[in-house]
Amino acid sequence: MPSGLVRGTSGNVSARTDGGMLITPSAVPYEEMTAGGMVFVRMDGVAIGGKPSSEWRMHLDVYRSRADARAIVHTHSTYATVLACAGLDLPAFHYMVAAANTDRVRCAGYATYGTQALSDNALAALGTDANACLLGHHGVLALGSSLDHAFGLAEEIEHLSEIYVHLRQLGPVEELPAEEMQRVQEAFKSYKR
Ligand code: 13P
Ligand code: ZN
Repeated sequence: MPSGLVRGTSGNVSARTDGGMLITPSAVPYEEMTAGGMVFVRMDGVAIGGKPSSEWRMHLDVYRSRADARAIVHTHSTYATVLACAGLDLPAFHYMVAAANTDRVRCAGYATYGTQALSDNALAALGTDANACLLGHHGVLALGSSLDHAFGLAEEIEHLSEIYVHLRQLGPVEELPAEEMQRVQEAFKSYKR
């Protein structure tokens, strides 16, 4: 089933590999992408075998600074981008926000796509533990221990953002206490089949 998270050439995906990462090529529509078209970028930033996504710096910087990150999904999914364009964080209005290993998915300050400044802002919004952040006036970034994990989190953030955008229409939004979000984060560590 198509996820609906991306349209055209927006967004990009990467996975950590030995000595670097494999990342989607720049400006190629998803329907035309092939496994062989993925671009290898070494940890020192040298790309081999094609033109990597414009956001290769942001992906590489996340792998450099977050040893737990093994895959990254960046999209312009609709509701997450609505929040990002309003400069809003996704607060602890629902316990599932803890799926991002934080009590608040922060919105990074705006910077031009593909720049070091955007990467710096994203890292600051992620901090040491959060597995997702919004990118001001741009979209959303999710990381995970595997491609499935990062992709599932990107889907979850989009779903939560949709609920939150609707919820805000009803009036002030109540947030769960920090201790409760901590409890849920702990519980999620053993939420497996
Ligand atoms: P790329 O096609 O270069 O990956 O760019 C898409 C995008 O979302 C930039 O932020
Ligand atoms: Zn983008």
